[in-house]
Amino acid sequence: MTRQIQIDFTPEEYHDAALLRRRVGAAADESVRIVRRTLDCRRRNIVYHCTVEVGVEEVLDNQRIHNILTSVAPRVLIVGAGPAGLFAALRCLEHGLRPIVVERGKSVEERKYDIARITREKIVDPDSNWCFGEGGAGTYSDGKLYTRSTKRGDISKVLRTFVAHGADPDIMLDAHAHIGTDRLSGIIASMRRTIEEYGGEFHFSTRVEDLLAQEGSVKGVVDQHGNRIEATAVILATGHSARDIYELFRRRGWQLEAKPFALGVRVEHPQELINEIQYHGKGYSRLLPPAAYSLTAQAAGHGVFSFCMCPGGVIVPAATAGGQQVVNGMSNSRRNSPYANSGIAVTVSPEDIGSDDPLALLRFQQQVEAAAYHAAGDCIDAPTQRLVDFLKRRTSSTLGKSGYMGDIVSSPLHELLPPFIAESLAQGFRAFDRKMKGFITREAQLLAVESRTSSPVRIPRDRATLQHPQLRGLYPCGEGAGYAGGIVSSALDGIRCADAVSLQM
Ligand SMILES: Cc1cc2nc3c(=O)[nH]c(=O)nc-3n(C[C@H](O)[C@H](O)[C@H](O)COP(=O)(O)OP(=O)(O)OC[C@H]3O[C@@H](n4cnc5c(N)ncnc54)[C@H](O)[C@@H]3O)c2cc1C
Repeated sequence: MTRQIQIDFTPEEYHDAALLRRRVGAAADESVRIVRRTLDCRRRNIVYHCTVEVGVEEVLDNQRIHNILTSVAPRVLIVGAGPAGLFAALRCLEHGLRPIVVERGKSVEERKYDIARITREKIVDPDSNWCFGEGGAGTYSDGKLYTRSTKRGDISKVLRTFVAHGADPDIMLDAHAHIGTDRLSGIIASMRRTIEEYGGEFHFSTRVEDLLAQEGSVKGVVDQHGNRIEATAVILATGHSARDIYELFRRRGWQLEAKPFALGVRVEHPQELINEIQYHGKGYSRLLPPAAYSLTAQAAGHGVFSFCMCPGGVIVPAATAGGQQVVNGMSNSRRNSPYANSGIAVTVSPEDIGSDDPLALLRFQQQVEAAAYHAAGDCIDAPTQRLVDFLKRRTSSTLGKSGYMGDIVSSPLHELLPPFIAESLAQGFRAFDRKMKGFITREAQLLAVESRTSSPVRIPRDRATLQHPQLRGLYPCGEGAGYAGGIVSSALDGIRCADAVSLQM
């Protein structure tokens, strides 16, 4: 028998196991397990809000797949091995369906060499980069595992699956769990081995260029070599950077919709400064993790918000083809870099662009990325400006150090960014400084451009069957189709799509 207790601990109490046992009133033969914790630093008295389980220790229920496939199991083609595709594949196995995963990029083991080349030679392989390859954009991400919506599905199933494949069991208890880039590739490879062990297949370096569509029904795909791969159903989980997929839909006259997204910059501060602001001085830095923040404001008629904040992180060049400049953030499990970075993004909707073309927001995103590439001297150096100079609308004469995995180059971002974005960001930063005194500082720098926050296009699907309205058997899935944002929600959407496929079998 176990009982759950809600209790607050100071950071000192939290790190004192004997005191912790006394506070929850545990008997000598009882175990004490913290099953959920949230760090609350809104007031000077910083506390961990905890849910503690006292009594007989429970063992975590590891993810299990019961169905060993029969030789006649229906083949479900899954395009894209990101979180949506991988979780769809695992779920297919639970339904007795054989997942065939096709991925334009390479396995995690090979992909890392192409990623290293981006920094070393400033060359982006359009099939193998920070976004494309096994594990998708999630592999070299921060691995922050939370979704804002609890309605999307069983989050704990996703977390259990990560733990069963090598993630730290602590991710089950942190309200803002985090895996870290250094751990993710091993976890992704382990998920692949599970899928293969139970009868699934992986085909890397296989880029889908067309769908086998006949009389409103999809029967498979065609790859870049013209090979036809047939299947009973196709789950399309290609992520928000697969622009060639949106262009394919446009060419073939299949429905697409414009979807509001967000665009801005990545702001970088010394981590020590963020710790001091968030922890009300220097005292707690020793006991607490590198501090995070989450900020929102309304400015010039737009929402401005912090996005994918990475404490102790680095900034990465996340373009997926030549001629683009894109930044994103990530961190290792120990979050031990001296920098704190975060996307600061402004909402963009079709009304801002004045066009109802489904691809208008994608074109806008492409133009800003091309302008940033050009501003850097036609390469993937990051156009950079000190925050104080951005607010004063002047080019920075000097730049500070940066955790960008490449070179930074001084650039007038107040002119480079579309005027409504620049104005909203300026107002947003001033509002953030009122909430977090010291946010505006000479040490803070802005790097451009944070443009891959979510998909600017939606591939529509029927609410009940999750199939495209014109293409039976095609299940648009995950972030690229516009139904998720982030690792957990994409994984949950993969599970939903596999469930929808199984209902049609
Ligand atoms: C640097 C970085 C840091 C991030 N940090 C976080 C974080 O901390 N927390 C978080 O929740 N989210 C984070 N994200 C976002 C997160 O990674 C995505 O939301 C998530 O990966 C989306 O999952 P998905 O499966 O829908 O698409 P993706 O992960 O984009 O996967 C799509 C896959 O499809 C493949 N593909 C594309 N086109 C084709 C084709 N034509 N044929 C075959 N295969 C194709 C791609 O190669 C890719 O592997 C980060 C992203 C980046 C880039």
